[in-house]
Amino acid sequence: MPELPEVEITARRLSRGAAGAEIESALAPGMVTMKTFDPPLEALAGRTLAGVRRVGKMLAIDAGELVVLVHLMSAGRLQLWDSRSSLRDRTSRLLIRLPGDRELRLREFGTQQRAWAKLLTPEALEADDAVATLGPDAYPAPPPDEFSRLLDQPRHLHPLLRDQRVIAGIGRSWVDELLWTARLSPFQKGSELDDDSLERLRVACDEVLGDVLDHYEQVIGDTIPDKLPMPLQVHRRAGEPCPRCGTRIEAIHFKDYVMCYCPEEQTGGRVLKDRRLSRLLK
Ligand SMILES: [Zn+2]
Repeated sequence: MPELPEVEITARRLSRGAAGAEIESALAPGMVTMKTFDPPLEALAGRTLAGVRRVGKMLAIDAGELVVLVHLMSAGRLQLWDSRSSLRDRTSRLLIRLPGDRELRLREFGTQQRAWAKLLTPEALEADDAVATLGPDAYPAPPPDEFSRLLDQPRHLHPLLRDQRVIAGIGRSWVDELLWTARLSPFQKGSELDDDSLERLRVACDEVLGDVLDHYEQVIGDTIPDKLPMPLQVHRRAGEPCPRCGTRIEAIHFKDYVMCYCPEEQTGGRVLKDRRLSRLLK
């Protein structure tokens, strides 16, 4: 799933490529993509696309007095194309047509239709549940006092950091990188962190997410690729040596994601039980 750095670079590139263009028309081939019906999508026609910005892990396309809020979910991509989508293209979910045959296209891979969009007024956007409940952005990291207050909850760090109501922008990939960078166990509780640990985690948010964005700025041109070159060090690297200490990176498999960590530096040398394995062994 695209997280803060992936969504941010997408917003920057789309803004650069499409800001100022007058929208010719908009349509939604994805039958369940649009979650709002009033105003109708046709209301976008004739408006100027002012820009694209990131809101948490979502994208907001500003057009006059309207905003299209887009959630890519796990398999969606919002890209600018120089030619128009064939109506037979089954990945198309939302098409915003611009002059010169250009098109801002929301596509989704796989058979599931989970990516969604809403056409809202700016006031409705601010009041929308997906926006109004967001915590502050993880990057730039909130100041120390606020960061400690946000994390002061008796919940494990891995789900706590991925909770968009607590802090916005972190998902299943970057949470592993942040915890590894701060040398913290994914099973430590937010309310149990001492000041030193909290500050390491806060600095990790700034450094890791900032470095990823710098990396994307350097390697990504005008076109956002389907798969972003994520500079991951531990996530998806189970079985490989930890880049810092050489210990084998371990993984815990959950129903729909994998948590990766370095036992030596994050869990006091303990290899945690893999729930998938223990279920199989029962
Ligand atoms: Zn290590």
